[in-house]
Amino acid sequence: MLVELADVRRVLETEKLVPCFQPIVELRTGRLSGFEILARWNHPQIGPVLPPNFISLAENNGLIELLMHQVLRQAFLSASLLPAPLTLSFNVSPSQLQNLELPTQVRLAAEAAGFPLARLKIEVTETALLHNIDCARIIALEFKAMGCRLSLDDFGTGYSSLSHLQALPFDELKIDRTFISSMTDTRESRKIVASTVGLGHSLGLTTIAEGIETEEQADMLLWLGCELGQGWLYGRPSPASQLAVIVAAPDRATAATLPAPVDGWTPSSLEALPVQRLAQLQAIYDGAPVGLCFLDCGLRYVSINKRLAEMNGASVAAHMGRTAQQMMPELFPTVEPYLRRALAGEAFLKIEVQRRASTLGKLDWTAQLSYQPVLDEANEVIGISVAVADVTDIKRTEASLRESDERQLQSVEFRDLVPWIMDADGNSLHGGTRWVASASLTENPVRNLGWLEPLHADDHDKVMATLSDALRTGKPIDIEYRALTIDGEWRWMRSRGSPRFGPSGEIIRWYGSVEELDPRERNGKHPAEIERTPSTSIGTTRQATRSQATQ
Ligand code: C2E
Ligand code: MG
Ligand code: MG
Repeated sequence: MLVELADVRRVLETEKLVPCFQPIVELRTGRLSGFEILARWNHPQIGPVLPPNFISLAENNGLIELLMHQVLRQAFLSASLLPAPLTLSFNVSPSQLQNLELPTQVRLAAEAAGFPLARLKIEVTETALLHNIDCARIIALEFKAMGCRLSLDDFGTGYSSLSHLQALPFDELKIDRTFISSMTDTRESRKIVASTVGLGHSLGLTTIAEGIETEEQADMLLWLGCELGQGWLYGRPSPASQLAVIVAAPDRATAATLPAPVDGWTPSSLEALPVQRLAQLQAIYDGAPVGLCFLDCGLRYVSINKRLAEMNGASVAAHMGRTAQQMMPELFPTVEPYLRRALAGEAFLKIEVQRRASTLGKLDWTAQLSYQPVLDEANEVIGISVAVADVTDIKRTEASLRESDERQLQSVEFRDLVPWIMDADGNSLHGGTRWVASASLTENPVRNLGWLEPLHADDHDKVMATLSDALRTGKPIDIEYRALTIDGEWRWMRSRGSPRFGPSGEIIRWYGSVEELDPRERNGKHPAEIERTPSTSIGTTRQATRSQATQ
């Protein structure tokens, strides 16, 4: 809308200018950090008129001081109800930075309303620094001496220059909303935001993003390490009457349901986070029981932990900047195809490779490699995160177990028994061909719990109870039961077995054998009688046994 100077004068005379308050939040916790004061002209006919329509008119016609007084006075009065440590940010125009009285005027207004100056932030745009920088510096230093904080507003637009950042003792960098609004779509904006956040951190400044409208933007900013955010996602500029409701509203993030932070915690302590995060990562990196490294897109070692360096037989320093091909020439042809595919975005888990011992006199070893592509905030691959586990011991144990399985089977078969092998969970790994042939089973049935199938229904519970007791305690197995043979006969069987224990005392295998008993050795019923028992039709017995066994 077109506003005349006369309108601006009238609005100031009639005090129709009011402050609105837009929330500023901590991105990590969703907690309210403070508000920015934004002037609003409540026009009786057309509603709120925005600052770009009247600020420059006021500034160019000597009315900006009056405007500031009106807005600040009302803002401080309303904000005296804001609990500590919530802050208030206030915009000053370029011309106001030429007025040496400004700090005193602001101080008097704050003191009159009892608002602590330490919770006041002064927002300055870069254009304000283009005029009389010496005067701006005197004013800025006085604000700092009063305990106020200084923000560089709309950073990235207009005359962005590193010298502006150093010209005044800024505490905060506000990234302009034009970059935020396009950062989820254009790579350039993302890169600018990322480097601005990085610049802020390296200068010890808190970074704040303006104009956050979507969760996606908020997530990306948080990921980039930006501390504070402001925008419609968190709240539009609201009249003073809404302040109490906004302050009382729960935080957006889960932090609301957590206990209060420990004493002494302030939003500014977030600045330490990147350092803490790095230190923690370094500790994990060095202490990890697996080898870890990061290869860049040229397959050069950008970082490597001590464990992997040792596995490769060279120091950490010797790896840096050298390629995977240079550091492990014998293995490279095997792994190169996987590495190339990882660079194209594919992840690989547990690729098994044989490696030659790097030290003379040591044995060769088996490694499991995992390749995870590392993406930047634009989802582009910037390298590969590599994990290397030495699985030589596991492989050796597996091989020796296989060997002892074979030996056991041979020796039992030799004694004319039907051997069986069972894992620690009671699954049959080997039931002996003769068990398959003599029981009424045909296709690969004895594996896992299939060996229970030919059992008589009346013996099933007893067998299961003995079995689960043995699996739990390691007690040797010795049970008798009836089984249906291929010729439709019920025969008494005796199964005996004992566990083999692993290095830490856990059961790793059961070895045993089944033998057929002479019916006369049994005191109970002769198996022939069983056929006359009504509940033992072959079909129902099988079904019942199977469903119980698989429960
Ligand atoms: P600013 O200090 O950069 O304030 C942020 C501007 O972005 C505000 O516009 C705000 O309403 C708008 N904004 C905040 N979040 C979003 C969002 O998510 N999306 C979009 N599209 N916009 C958002 P507003 O209120 O029109 O103020 C414009 C400028 O006028 C301010 O820019 C500030 O430089 C100036 N200004 C406002 N109030 C005062 C004042 O009392 N004194 C002086 N000297 N300047 C003021
Ligand atoms: Mg501002
Ligand atoms: Mg701004």
